[in-house]
Amino acid sequence: MHLKKVEMIGFKSFANKTTIEFDSGFTAIVGPNGSGKSNITEAIKWVLGEQSAKSLRGRKMDDVIFGGASNRSKAQYAEVTLVFDNSDHLLNIDTDEVGMTRRYTRAGESTYMINRKNCRLKDMTELMMDTGIGRDSFSIISQGQVEAIFMQKPEDRRAIFEEAAGVMKYKNRKKEASNKLEHTQENLDRIFDILKEVE
Ligand code: ATP
Repeated sequence: MHLKKVEMIGFKSFANKTTIEFDSGFTAIVGPNGSGKSNITEAIKWVLGEQSAKSLRGRKMDDVIFGGASNRSKAQYAEVTLVFDNSDHLLNIDTDEVGMTRRYTRAGESTYMINRKNCRLKDMTELMMDTGIGRDSFSIISQGQVEAIFMQKPEDRRAIFEEAAGVMKYKNRKKEASNKLEHTQENLDRIFDILKEVE
């Protein structure tokens, strides 16, 4: 599986529809300061589920939408699609190509799509979990992160290996199941209390 292309419309400095293609192998993006290189990485992170505007160098989520220029009015929405080559079916979807889309409007409406079909953010994160391309995976290493990894406590660093080994998905499911169990136990306790009262 590899990222074949990134399509952006109205995302940050990319007002027009812009497609960046990645061949297999090594791709380098070069350009003058302020030309939008980091915005491309942020577009990828955004689709992968980044929820913090600060991590995308903004104050609020609106800041990802093209804010206008002297010759161009601002965009009403931002949309980014990541197209993955899925011929090895690493992503658990039947198609040889998978498109993941995130769209955000100035009215604050968020849409997530897999192969242009609406889905929940959870569906997207679950699909990506343990493939090495999740939001918190290490497929994107930002400036300063390498140093931060070296400075981490061993148990925090273990999470990197867990993600790579593919156990994160099961850890998350275990946590969800324990929460449900806890909730059910509370309900049971309440029922026993009521039963005691009526007996
Ligand atoms: P450097 O080499 O200095 O790190 P870069 O090529 O990585 O630069 P970016 O930081 O990706 O460039 O792009 C910054 C540019 O994007 C700035 O000119 C900024 O004005 C523009 N920009 C960011 N958000 C928006 C937005 N919402 N609307 C329009 N332009 C935006």
